[in-house]
Amino acid sequence: MKSLNRSQKVVAPESSNKKKRGHQVGAKGHGRTPQPYLPVIEELHELSSDDKKCPKCGKPFLSFGTEDSDLKEIYVRPHVRRIQRERCKKDCQCDGVVGIITAPPAPKVISKSQTGVSVLTEVLVKKYQHEMKLNRIIEEFAGQGMPIAAGTITGN
Ligand SMILES: [Zn+2]
Repeated sequence: MKSLNRSQKVVAPESSNKKKRGHQVGAKGHGRTPQPYLPVIEELHELSSDDKKCPKCGKPFLSFGTEDSDLKEIYVRPHVRRIQRERCKKDCQCDGVVGIITAPPAPKVISKSQTGVSVLTEVLVKKYQHEMKLNRIIEEFAGQGMPIAAGTITGN
């Protein structure tokens, strides 16, 4: 019933937006590390048609855009997986019916983190199989256009 309908679209890398050069990469203590060099693959998660209607009268909810979040993943090369969860609101006057519904979130290894499962898998393989030091792993990711904070990996 809660089937997830997904579609993917690759959009242009965000490398040419107006970010100032040179100061963000590796900056500490200012929230998330900016990811200006990764291509973004948009992923539209649609609500199932069963879910997006009034359970009382059956009138379809109105779609009003998406709730967006980003997850870093490595798929051949690092990119941003932009999760776009469809949102709908009821279009009727029924009492006791939830007004707004959103497609379920993508599963995450670390809640609130933008780091996807594939990145953490890479880290574990590099660390334990290739016996790489953490700062070397971080350097390598940065060289591939994906600067990540050390705390993302160490859990601090
Ligand atoms: Zn209704």
